[in-house]
Amino acid sequence: PEVPVGAILAGAAARYGDRTAYLHNDRALGFSQVYRAACRFANALRAHGVGTGDTVAVHLPNCLAYPVAYYGILLAGATFTPANPLLPPADLAAQLADSGAVAAISSGPAAEVLAGVQDRTAVRLVVVVDGESGPGRTEFERFHAGQPETPPEVAIDPRTALAHLAYTGGTTGRSKGVRLPHRNVVVNSLQYACWGSGSVPVLEDGERLGLDQVGSEDEWPSRLGTGIAINLTPWFHAMGTIGGLNVPMLTGGTIVLQDGFDPVRYLADAERLRVTQLGGAPALYAALLACPDFATRDLSSVRSLSSGAAPLPHEMLKALGQRFPEAVISEGYGLTEVTMGATANPTFRSAVRKPGTVGVPVFDTEVKIVAPEGGEEPLPPGEPGEVCIRGPQVMTGYHERPEETAAVLVDGWLHTGDIGVLDKEGYLSIVDRKKDMLLYKGYNVYPRELEELLMSQPGVASAAVVGRRRADVGELPVAFVVRRGDAGTEEDLMAAVNANVLPYKRLRELHFVDAIPVSAAGKILKRELRARLEA
Ligand code: ATP
Repeated sequence: PEVPVGAILAGAAARYGDRTAYLHNDRALGFSQVYRAACRFANALRAHGVGTGDTVAVHLPNCLAYPVAYYGILLAGATFTPANPLLPPADLAAQLADSGAVAAISSGPAAEVLAGVQDRTAVRLVVVVDGESGPGRTEFERFHAGQPETPPEVAIDPRTALAHLAYTGGTTGRSKGVRLPHRNVVVNSLQYACWGSGSVPVLEDGERLGLDQVGSEDEWPSRLGTGIAINLTPWFHAMGTIGGLNVPMLTGGTIVLQDGFDPVRYLADAERLRVTQLGGAPALYAALLACPDFATRDLSSVRSLSSGAAPLPHEMLKALGQRFPEAVISEGYGLTEVTMGATANPTFRSAVRKPGTVGVPVFDTEVKIVAPEGGEEPLPPGEPGEVCIRGPQVMTGYHERPEETAAVLVDGWLHTGDIGVLDKEGYLSIVDRKKDMLLYKGYNVYPRELEELLMSQPGVASAAVVGRRRADVGELPVAFVVRRGDAGTEEDLMAAVNANVLPYKRLRELHFVDAIPVSAAGKILKRELRARLEA
């Protein structure tokens, strides 16, 4: 439906009323409370001259103020741009300047970093959460207290008005601003809400969007409905903004917030609160599987698990399946350029989920595979190539980067930079990122194949493979491995993997390390590993 994102919150307030939307420690916030506060926030922004056409940065960790600021910005007709609160000063300055944000909501030490770089940006209004008003900044509660609790009148076209100016994860290089109109955000939220909850969208009065449930909870174990989930995915990332904020708003469940990630506390809360869903990047599951409490806590309330943002290794999927034999486990795939996602394994109980694949396209979405060297002709099933996506959730372009936009958007098809393969039934598997692929004597070597083999060896907790450049042959595969228990010697492990691969793919070096660097969104930072090799 072509409605603004605010219609999701208005619909949730009307349907779910005082039911708890968010729980943080002992503080609960109901759906209608979020709506009223977001309306006040929107009116406060407009009273400060911030509205349609302006961009506002949210520079916060996940907290109860986040949804108020997020929906407030959108209800004011402005564009939301998220910023990781842990960004170092230079990166924050660059991102804020690139976005053109005129206002920012920040908190704690991040607000001090912001203050230090503000003069290099267009930010002229700063609101702080958990801090005092002072010169140049207003305290969050005081900022929106006493404002009207109805949304300001704004006229925007959901097909063109920008809702999000979202920045890519920056896993492979400098992050880019992605332009996402309201329609993209609404559609992608619906695509995942309907996919995961057995429901159909309804528009109640042109302003309020809701879902009608079809089928029973048993048929759709992934339905949040009256369920409860702990959400650790950062809301400044696509998976958080859509999967953590908007999808639960549509489905009506309760989201639990935690400060930072501690697997022991996470598992204790999951047992105490009778959590029904687990969801996040594979890094979350890796940490849970490594925690002794995972085996002993009563997690019988968990009905479904979802994973995305990075490949879920086969070994991990197997271990999760053994721990939750009754639950539905679904891996999905996406990128900031498609708002959040393009595919997922279907979650109704009787559907075919293919482990190791990222499922099939969500509704209104097409996926094709083309030759990695270029071209638009689809390759037949079974042949790996570049994944291309077409659908209403695909971005309109990168912010102020026409050349980079033209390079990836061709006739509505987004070229993702990921190598994948479709099977005959249309299930997609992600082979690797094009940028991570190694070229050895003219052969393509996909590090992920070697990583999967490493992870299947005893004593390996996680592994990453990158290339060491050698002028004469190209790139040689080098592994970094984090151990869990006894993995033998570096030589033994390398030999065990090399016994199972074609000669040109063999690992040439293997290093045991204490940790592998991952981004805030849970992706392995291979450029940091490559830099170690070059140092
Ligand atoms: P940048 O483009 O700035 O380097 P990034 O690629 O991390 O950063 P995101 O949009 O955060 O930007 O991440 C999208 C990427 O994450 C996809 O292109 C893909 O490589 C990877 N990804 C997402 N889901 C999966 C999955 N289920 N399996 C494998 N890879 C995945």
